[in-house]
Amino acid sequence: MPESGLQIALVSHDARKPALVAWVCAWQAAPSRHALCGTGTTAIEVMQAGPGLQVEELLSGPQGGDQQVGARIATRHLDAPVFFVDPGSPHPHENDVQALIRISVLADIPLALNRASADHLAEAMSLLRGPG
Ligand code: PGA
Repeated sequence: MPESGLQIALVSHDARKPALVAWVCAWQAAPSRHALCGTGTTAIEVMQAGPGLQVEELLSGPQGGDQQVGARIATRHLDAPVFFVDPGSPHPHENDVQALIRISVLADIPLALNRASADHLAEAMSLLRGPG
């Protein structure tokens, strides 16, 4: 991964995983130029759907994966989380989700919580220099 590449985190609640995978597939050329990490199940599903995409597998979200992403943001080791949240159902790790959103705002980094925001982020990513 080039030093100029961004560090991108992929996270999605279960009901939004198909949408996140579809986003990665639609924009594969953009995310593949950057370093990807993701919470456990999300990372696996993205790698299964996007041949050639490498995603560093963190813990599953409910097992602390969202906190791992948050820690990377706090230490400036992550540039942009793409977190497709499910607004329709409660989650036992809601506090972790809120903490991740809070630290993203505090760090003043782009945070994509839905497809429209992620599309804008992907457009920006594709403008950045990658390995080619
Ligand atoms: P998962 O976690 O990718 O392991 O499903 C996502 C979350 O619910 O935060």
